[in-house]
Amino acid sequence: FFDPQLFTKGQPATLGEDASHHISRVLRMKEGDQLQVFNGEGGAWQAQITALSRKAVTVLPASFDSENRLPPRPVTVALPLIKGERMDYALQKATELGAHQFQLLNTERTDVRLDGERLEKKLRHWQQVVISACEQCGMNLVPIVLAPQPLADWLPTADAGLKLIAHPGENPLPADACHGVADIILLTGPEGGFSEAEISAATEQGFVSFALGNRILRAETAPVALLAALWARISS
Ligand code: SAM
Repeated sequence: FFDPQLFTKGQPATLGEDASHHISRVLRMKEGDQLQVFNGEGGAWQAQITALSRKAVTVLPASFDSENRLPPRPVTVALPLIKGERMDYALQKATELGAHQFQLLNTERTDVRLDGERLEKKLRHWQQVVISACEQCGMNLVPIVLAPQPLADWLPTADAGLKLIAHPGENPLPADACHGVADIILLTGPEGGFSEAEISAATEQGFVSFALGNRILRAETAPVALLAALWARISS
């Protein structure tokens, strides 16, 4: 994360250790090189590297970049915990596709259960996956990864102009489903899918169930493919 207060035109700022390592060792940038720094809350600066080591890169912010790289609607992606690196994949790719935030869920058939220190550690890791994806794709609003909640507790609190639950075998999403909605929730299920009781509970809370095509997507593919399908339905 870059501290939003950190960047002021003409004032040198030192980047964190992870970003410094990436810039100096992975990208092999040098003093004098130009780069873009994000504050994670919608702002970006063009800056020049003034000093560089493996642990600390100092930059001089020159001009504020107000280009908006956000997608046409904020979409909260609600998804179950998924095993191993497949969770990283889902978060990384959905961030590239412009997810606004992630709500992690425990559902009936979720086969990953985490709590305590292991969960805290994983949440820090997943947030870093998302930050790295933002650095790569240039989205200057960093999605927050929210700690898992039981699906039944979260459903009544889930609020958006359009709430979607993805379930194989349902009807496709109507072409005009996203017209005029300010924000969207996209809920996808675990490898074992949602139970019928979960689908009923979601529809009682105003979720619309839909399917994309007639093949079964893996749990980590679904949020990514479905986000792309949503953007195809929203032109602006
Ligand atoms: N046998 C499970 C079922 O029928 O629900 C398969 C679950 S699938 C591996 C994991 C999740 O991805 C599903 O719960 C659903 O949310 C989403 N999904 C997979 N394929 C989909 C499709 N074609 N359309 C909509 N959602 C899909």
